[in-house]
Amino acid sequence: MLTVGGHGCVIDVGDGTQTALNLAVSELSEQCITEVDTLILTHIHRRHISAIRSVCENRMVRRILIPEPTDDSENAIATDLVETAEHFSVEVGFLPRPEETAISFSDVTIQLAEKRYIDRSVHPLIGLVFGLPDGYVLYLGSSTWEDIGYLGFGDGADLVIYGSHGPVIKSAPGLVFEATHIYATNELVARSIGAVWIDGRLTVELIE
Ligand SMILES: [Zn+2]
Repeated sequence: MLTVGGHGCVIDVGDGTQTALNLAVSELSEQCITEVDTLILTHIHRRHISAIRSVCENRMVRRILIPEPTDDSENAIATDLVETAEHFSVEVGFLPRPEETAISFSDVTIQLAEKRYIDRSVHPLIGLVFGLPDGYVLYLGSSTWEDIGYLGFGDGADLVIYGSHGPVIKSAPGLVFEATHIYATNELVARSIGAVWIDGRLTVELIE
């Protein structure tokens, strides 16, 4: 969840569940932001459509951004999402590919890593970089460390978060990024790499 100057943007990190998405949206209310300006889905996955529907039922959502579908199954899910959004009069935009293209949200840019999979899961790996006026934050979804292809993505980030969304965690991170601050949402991951374990929520004040 990202707030900039009274605007709220929600991104599908957390653990990918409806509970996590609702928590992010209620956090906006605590900051007196009643509308979701932009809801970003980093990957097209059917189980997240119902979570989005529930947010739209309860909040004013201005815009939903999803990656451009690349195959028939993604097309079908995207069509359902567009229908749901139309029902709530929410604009749907497509994130351009290649994924290296950054999305701007106020003075923050969000850059998705290339879509990658590991053999044992149908869930794509997730890599995101948040570019801020004073530096940048790298978010890695679960198990990204099993794919050497992520090496170099987000190099030089000031803060790295090892998240829980994506393929089930089966091993400790093999790829450990250098950064001043390293956090992990999974206790075992945190312990194995000496990161700070985020128990519950992590609030980082990125912009004063
Ligand atoms: Zn997902």
